Amino acid sequence: MSSRIKNLFPRVIINSRCEKTIEIDLISDNWEKVTASVPSGKSKGKKEIVEVKADKAVNLIENKIFSKIKGFELCQQIKFDQLLNEYGDNVGSNTKLVLSIAYLKLSSLSLSLENYAYIRHYLTKIHKSFYHFPTPYFNMVNGGVHANNNLGFQEFLVIPKLKASFKENYWSAVEIYQSLKLVLIKSGLGTTIADEGGYSFDLKDDTKVFDLLKIACTEKSLVPGKEIFFGIDASADNLHKSADNLTSTYEKIMANYPLVYLEDPYSENDFKYWLAIMSKKNHNFLIVGDDLTVTNSQYINQYAQQKLINGVIIKPNQIGTITQTLEAIETAKKNHLKIIVSHRSGETNDDFIADFALAVEADGVKFGAPARGERVAKYNRLLKIEDNLINQTNNN
Ligand code: PEP
Ligand code: MG
Repeated sequence: MSSRIKNLFPRVIINSRCEKTIEIDLISDNWEKVTASVPSGKSKGKKEIVEVKADKAVNLIENKIFSKIKGFELCQQIKFDQLLNEYGDNVGSNTKLVLSIAYLKLSSLSLSLENYAYIRHYLTKIHKSFYHFPTPYFNMVNGGVHANNNLGFQEFLVIPKLKASFKENYWSAVEIYQSLKLVLIKSGLGTTIADEGGYSFDLKDDTKVFDLLKIACTEKSLVPGKEIFFGIDASADNLHKSADNLTSTYEKIMANYPLVYLEDPYSENDFKYWLAIMSKKNHNFLIVGDDLTVTNSQYINQYAQQKLINGVIIKPNQIGTITQTLEAIETAKKNHLKIIVSHRSGETNDDFIADFALAVEADGVKFGAPARGERVAKYNRLLKIEDNLINQTNNN
């Protein structure tokens, strides 16, 4: 017989940006116990499900939701998430998600499975025991609303495509991150670390950041355009620049640097510009929706059909439950979109998202820089899983 939910202890904790968020301990009638916590974004899409204050979430769980989920059988994720959704969106995406993740973790534990194995086996339609590791998208420089500087773009990304193990891609990013610090010091620029672990400094021209990244790569004998590629999360809704101005900036960058990834290049309503950039790009170039699509199946389907995007960011807290997140991924796959599972800028040390990304066969993961505990927790988790899987294979 499956275990059931016996007890829970929600509490308010602090995230990586010194904001209050929610953490919960969930306990089964077999005395198994898991802990889950949820992140919070700063550059949010207008159509994201809203969060409630962490204190309110604790109150709702203790006084409204617990009595309904006490005794709920484990390993019934769809039914459990349905029950959470009966409370509507007013209870907040954070209240729902922390329960949804904790329930999933407790279900895995009740079967003595790792989270990634439980998700793959019981919650996806992927019938493979082989795990394909996602490409990591490392945020090396922070701008926009994630840093107190004059850079407009929110994220300047380095994408290692060594086509080897996750570990080798990770190590190359670590080398670039360390090398970049020396390049910045030599150039008289600041090395403050911002919200997602990337460096923050003032520079008049955003495009010049790519010169610095290029030097950082070549100092480590990593070749931009061959082993290392670049990306941008413009988060254009927060940029306040005209779409024409953005187009000429992108053209300039594409002509001079190995750019392969553009997230939220235009604001949520500038559809004709999304369409235009999609029609001009080559087939390896990703135009990715985040604020545009907000992990919502309906928007993902609509914008994929309209050919505005060929890739999508997946953030569980934009939509609220694991089941809805899996639905968004299914829709993206049906539309042949590349999937990048992402952290938020205000994170906790919970590494669940790493297991989730691996289990759903995400093409990429975006967990920030290879620095700051809450970011490396996720990359390190993938490293550990890869290592465990290699050891398992060697021992068989
Ligand atoms: C993003 O826009 O991709 C991001 C991670 O930022 P935030 O969490 O602030 O929305
Ligand atoms: Mg984004």
